[in-house]
Amino acid sequence: MAASFVDKARITVKAGNGGNGCVSFHREKYVAAGGPDGGDGGNGGSILLQVDDNLSTLMDFRYKRKYTAENGMDGAGSRRTGKDGKSLTIRVPRGTLVRDAETEEIIQDMSGDEPFVLCRGGKGGWGNAHFATPTRQAPRFAKSGMPGESHDVVLELKLLADVGLVGFPNVGKSTLLSAVSKARPKIANYHFTTLFPNLGVVYVEEGVSFVMADIPGIIEGASEGAGLGHDFLRHIDRCRLLVHVVDVSGSEGRDPAVDFDAINQELRQYSPDLAGRPQIVVANKADIMADDSLLTALRAHVEALGYPLFVISAAAHQGVRELIYAIANRLKELPPVAVYAPEYVKRPPKVDTSAPVEITVEDGVYLVEGPWLQRLISNTNFGDYESRMWFDKMLREAGVFQQLEDLGIQDGDLVSMYDLEFEYQH
Ligand code: GDP
Ligand code: MG
Repeated sequence: MAASFVDKARITVKAGNGGNGCVSFHREKYVAAGGPDGGDGGNGGSILLQVDDNLSTLMDFRYKRKYTAENGMDGAGSRRTGKDGKSLTIRVPRGTLVRDAETEEIIQDMSGDEPFVLCRGGKGGWGNAHFATPTRQAPRFAKSGMPGESHDVVLELKLLADVGLVGFPNVGKSTLLSAVSKARPKIANYHFTTLFPNLGVVYVEEGVSFVMADIPGIIEGASEGAGLGHDFLRHIDRCRLLVHVVDVSGSEGRDPAVDFDAINQELRQYSPDLAGRPQIVVANKADIMADDSLLTALRAHVEALGYPLFVISAAAHQGVRELIYAIANRLKELPPVAVYAPEYVKRPPKVDTSAPVEITVEDGVYLVEGPWLQRLISNTNFGDYESRMWFDKMLREAGVFQQLEDLGIQDGDLVSMYDLEFEYQH
């Protein structure tokens, strides 16, 4: 059944945490008071996405929903830096939209070949070797690594095709695709034979080709989810041109003009934008047309609406060449296949700052640590003034400055929070 075609999936991804910095002192026989030599933690691995044209569904994501990149290793003595965590590359079919699971905003449209960094690995913490200064010769502290970013995302496949075939079931859409491309969709004389979208490359002539998509037939009420087809309409969202196939043989006792309007009504309900996409109407099964009254009526109807009409027999390969050239010519005038712009904006996280932070005073340095503080820092963009002000406000409200004052901090003393260091100003 259609269920085996997976074109939507929700996954959780988590980049690796940075390794912790190390506190260590150089030890050697007969050498007194060796200097600090604790190495830095390694960086956590990131989560990347990459298009893979060997994939055509999101099937793999149905069974595996959690993706985690490696953590960085902790630093060690003798200034040994921890090993960086390995990044994880997740392969997706071309045309996969990545959305924030909560807000549904588009994070990225995976249509191109560039890898996309979805979650950054956490930076490794500094070892104590980093903190040695002429006045601070034996720092007994190091920094924890920063957490890797994590995200719940929804992957949604929206095929990349120039042309989308639309029409009632059994009108000959799959037959047309197989007549003009190497795609081999299933064809049979009953409704709903096509259960998966199919893509075919149509070679027109040297240097001219286009991609055509055959989706499972849409029926009345499909746009409201009444039947098969609703889910599949998204695969023609990006198409530049719709080829609307109608059966003019009268073999099923249907009225082609009524069918034509019913499908357009479906499209409009799903998306007015899609319904307004340029259309070429194809009157198919001309080879078994009993009389041409249905065709004449259809032609009058669609031409009055401003659509061009082509009469073909997909099965007998009649009129197909002319149709293909007409499609190619029309495509030349149309804008390229839509690529969706990212809409996602990273918001300041909701951080519960009620737990007190831990402050240790070492060598006149105020070391501030705490799980929420770590999260806050890794989510703050310190290059941005507003973000810095927000961060400052959060610390103030959480009572961190009060805690520091209670410990006797003076203006100009050094405050150290993970990968952040600043001089205290009252
Ligand atoms: P789809 O549901 O729109 O994809 O329709 P299919 O391509 O599966 O075709 C449905 C039935 O119509 C099949 O039995 C086809 O062989 C038949 N068919 C398709 N095109 C033509 C045509 O041009 N002439 C005739 N006589 N039969 C056709
Ligand atoms: Mg079909």
